[in-house]
Amino acid sequence: MSAYDTNNIFAKILRGEIPSHRVYEDDATVAFMDVMPQAEGHVLVLPKTPSRNILDADASTLPSLIGAVQKIAIAAKEAFDADGVTIMQFNEAPAGQSVFHLHFHVIPRRDGVPLKP
Ligand code: IMP
Repeated sequence: MSAYDTNNIFAKILRGEIPSHRVYEDDATVAFMDVMPQAEGHVLVLPKTPSRNILDADASTLPSLIGAVQKIAIAAKEAFDADGVTIMQFNEAPAGQSVFHLHFHVIPRRDGVPLKP
């Protein structure tokens, strides 16, 4: 597996070098809106610590991250009056990862509305 690239786009967002629409932040975690949402309210949740994906993440960072994912999923479901929430997370390009800083997708879902490709 490749090393963590400190110039990946989410690292730049975390450093404030690229704008984002932040919807949540705590000591360990940031969440912002996806620029190409697959459904209304699509949020990305990421740890502030650098890891490429879950395969190289420090296990001690994961409990707070998944706790934030849960908080955001509950809030997004309510805010977007959704019927459910899809949570996705990809590791390496063959598995669908395109930005190489660990992140979870939190996507409010409405009954009968498919995700945009
Ligand atoms: P991945 O396939 O899990 O790596 O998903 C990366 C996600 O990042 C995609 O859903 C993109 O739309 C999203 N994305 C890429 N660049 C930006 C950005 O600058 N701001 C917010 N979201 C982004």
